[in-house]
Amino acid sequence: MDSNFSEKDLVNTIERESEFLVKIRNLKVYFYTEEGIVKAVEGIDLDIKKGETLGLIGESGSGKTVSALSIIQLLPIPPAKIISGSILFKTKDLLQFSNKEMRIVRGGNISMIFQDPMTSLNPLYSVADQIAENLRVHQKLDPNEAKTEAIRMMKEVGIPDAEKRSQDFPHQFSGGMRQRIMIAIALSCRPSLLIADEPTTALDVTIQAQVLYLIDKLKQKYNTAVLYITHNFAVVAEIADRVAVMYAGYIVEENSCLECFVNPAHPYTRDLLSSIPRVDRKLDHLEVIKGSIPNLINPPSGCRFHPRCKDVMDICSKEVPKRLEIAPRHFVRCHLYS
Ligand code: SF4
Repeated sequence: MDSNFSEKDLVNTIERESEFLVKIRNLKVYFYTEEGIVKAVEGIDLDIKKGETLGLIGESGSGKTVSALSIIQLLPIPPAKIISGSILFKTKDLLQFSNKEMRIVRGGNISMIFQDPMTSLNPLYSVADQIAENLRVHQKLDPNEAKTEAIRMMKEVGIPDAEKRSQDFPHQFSGGMRQRIMIAIALSCRPSLLIADEPTTALDVTIQAQVLYLIDKLKQKYNTAVLYITHNFAVVAEIADRVAVMYAGYIVEENSCLECFVNPAHPYTRDLLSSIPRVDRKLDHLEVIKGSIPNLINPPSGCRFHPRCKDVMDICSKEVPKRLEIAPRHFVRCHLYS
């Protein structure tokens, strides 16, 4: 150890380390398809602190969902394969866990909600039975206790007449109410981490705002960290403490939410933000990012954003930019900062 490293430094380091709930390092995920190898996630590093909301944002196909499914180990293997990396959850590497161990973690310590609750809920069981099942499996509650707690959770997520409606089936609820039930299932065991994969995309704007408010309220109540996946900066602004921007398998920028809006550093983040229509800016036309996200079977060399980047330099097509910390907890992958 460095002899200049004081006891106070050591304590600070340990405290800083223990703030983190999830530490992803060099995670690489490929899909082996008939057309070729899809390099979906290319060595990402990401930290999630206890109790914080991290917004993971990017275009479709940027690798957001694949990264999240790697944490909870719901990737379809094959064709997917985790090539390298580690996913520390508290102090354990989830990638070393057996299927049996992951079944204990899933639902109990880490929960996930998806865009379409209808495909996640079982149409053959009442909603209360589905919440209660999670409680029986992970909290070892007896059937009566689990049912009572399921109804309490239904009330907590704002289902009107919860007791009366507890024996209804998923198809008897609206889209917004079904998403509330998914949130009740996900949070019933007080997980340390909730992964929310575009949970409001299929909802209209007023219901979307209610669901975002509910996630935020319950996250604070249970001190749950949230990994919120979206392609919508407005949603990120509403809910996130920090933002990670993904492009073609890389996290290209990570910063606090406020700083990301005020002081975006990566050209892709800047382009994404300037393509959002704003009421305070009169425009003849909307800004667009030219081109489209690359085919990840044969991605561009060097920086994968270089064919679309306004600031491209010679080095950009030759070398993959390194992840640099340009300010405390502000990370960027771009040769402009090398
Ligand atoms: Fe643009 Fe080069 Fe930075 Fe990539 S590395 S974002 S191409 S300036």
